Amino acid sequence: MKHLSIKDLNVEIDGREILKNFNIEVKAGEVHAIMGPNGTGKSTLAKAIAGHGDYEVTSGSIELKGKELLEMDPDERAREGVFMAFQYPIEIPGVTTTNFMKAAINERRKQNGEEPIKAKDFLKLMKEKMKYVDIDQSFMSRELNVGFSGGEKKRNEIFQMAMLEPKLAILDETDSGLDIDALRIVSEGVNKLKSKDNAFIVITHYQRLLDYIVPDFVHVLYDGRIVRSGGKELALELEEKGYDWVKELA
Ligand code: ADP
Ligand code: MG
Repeated sequence: MKHLSIKDLNVEIDGREILKNFNIEVKAGEVHAIMGPNGTGKSTLAKAIAGHGDYEVTSGSIELKGKELLEMDPDERAREGVFMAFQYPIEIPGVTTTNFMKAAINERRKQNGEEPIKAKDFLKLMKEKMKYVDIDQSFMSRELNVGFSGGEKKRNEIFQMAMLEPKLAILDETDSGLDIDALRIVSEGVNKLKSKDNAFIVITHYQRLLDYIVPDFVHVLYDGRIVRSGGKELALELEEKGYDWVKELA
């Protein structure tokens, strides 16, 4: 079975066409990078997959493990295993990371007809996953993202991703604003989480991140369409030739 299959996807915002007959196939175990100039529709793609209400899908399909995501609301998609790491993680005052994670995990267990997770198992899981991103215990009892630095928010987000073990994880410019150390930590977390049962879409403006998270495929998006696909060397070519080259490809 195909892992992720997006076919002829058309997405509009306020009646303006952003994604135009977008197609991609991602197999389990693969990492796909999507690069491209600003304003070409990268975040629109991520948000359409997640089910964000501002983005109107006018035609096409998005299937994850044979299930049509477009028929599900955003919560259902998350429970099916879609995880989005946003460019700007949101703050949730009054909710600690621990409680947020417990709620998210139990929500999914409920969907699968399982009992809530036992306190002991939850703590064990937390400890194990905290190591993935080298995050301090003290973050767990703090309000989610409130007062976190940019790097801390992103590290926390990768921790959340590790906890939820998504089938499809989408990182939308997770690298923006990260220094080299934070970038390495985030990337290591992703690399540890990679398995033959999941897939990653890494959206990035810069080649730098792809030194750490090595993609199986790189796609260049321009004006709502993929204009070139290749292996990891395409990212280097793009870095060298710049985004003006992309316009020539289109
Ligand atoms: P990228 O992530 O590649 O920089 P986006 O997908 O964010 O590009 O944006 C694609 C186009 O859609 C841009 O022209 C942007 O201004 C527009 N756009 C994105 N989000 C919205 C929104 N919420 N309302 C109106 N226009 C939007
Ligand atoms: Mg964007």
